[in-house]
Amino acid sequence: MTILITGGAGFIGSHLADRLLTAGHRVVCLDNFDDFYARDIKEEHIREQLLHSNYQLAAGDIRDSELLSRLFKDHRFEVVYHIAARVGVRPSLLHPQLYEDVNIKGTLNLLECVKEFPVKHFVFASSSSVYGINSKIPFSESDPIELPISPYAASKRACELFCYTYHHLYKIPTSCLRFFTVYGPRQRPEMAIHRFTRAIDQGEPVTLFGDGTTRRDYTYVGDIVEALVTLADQSFGFEIFNIGNSQVVELRQLVALIEKCLNKKANIIWKPEQPGDVPVTYSDISKAQKMFGYQPATNIEDGIKKFVEWYTGH
Ligand code: NAD
Repeated sequence: MTILITGGAGFIGSHLADRLLTAGHRVVCLDNFDDFYARDIKEEHIREQLLHSNYQLAAGDIRDSELLSRLFKDHRFEVVYHIAARVGVRPSLLHPQLYEDVNIKGTLNLLECVKEFPVKHFVFASSSSVYGINSKIPFSESDPIELPISPYAASKRACELFCYTYHHLYKIPTSCLRFFTVYGPRQRPEMAIHRFTRAIDQGEPVTLFGDGTTRRDYTYVGDIVEALVTLADQSFGFEIFNIGNSQVVELRQLVALIEKCLNKKANIIWKPEQPGDVPVTYSDISKAQKMFGYQPATNIEDGIKKFVEWYTGH
């Protein structure tokens, strides 16, 4: 198949591209190398992919509708993985317009393209943040979720709504995947596991917000990629799926696991909880299990070990 990955030079998108190339697909990566983190990190993610005859890089912006039209016309994509986004919960409080522009306008541009050039499956990377402060755990796709607590979360929810609207109007087979904190090799440098590992390794203080009891459902990137790949062959109308590990880990426990793998002690500084942060994320994954056999295979102990091995070896 010929497949478009937006955000294909990023953490999750580049792992997906590796996997699709190995499976023999043609991959077009559309990425503008935004300034959220260093460009050379993203260039390193795709260094080997650029040598592959089935890989093409389109360096550009999802907000550029003319570029998108050209790409869709030239390639006639069968599957679109729309992974690109302005990421980060806390920074979205500082630049809400940017999140609206990239995430909502960019998604709408892509939906306009698949309206004109239909695909077998449009897959949108959504986020567990859409659940906001959900008092019911684990979070299920049928929970009411109309109260996002950050501009990032609100933008992701808005994208899900547009995905539904375009499916309803133009019958585009569409899945929105709500990822629960993704980690593993190449994880974004500002994300907690990467930041804590770097600080502990370098003997720098580790700043923790709250009282250490906040809990997250951490999902290994290999499991996310398996879900994305399996999904491409399924024909659903419109569905939303939680893609998590369905296990919660306390912040303190996470730091202890990293300490153990690095064999170094953390020097912890405690700070108050941050606005926009949620106390817990916890996925109910039974819908994805039932509908396409999703089964996370990497537990947090093994996943942190793999991450630390990658961190110390690169
Ligand atoms: P990432 O920043 O590593 O990847 C995003 C990529 O999108 C980057 O390479 C960036 O350059 C690109 N991009 C940004 N704006 C763009 C634009 N206007 N045009 C073209 N490309 C653009 O982030 P990631 O962690 O790999 O996240 C990938 C997706 O998964 C995002 O949509 C994110 O919201 C979602 N998600 C991630 C997590 C997680 O824990 N990492 C959790 C939930 C949801």
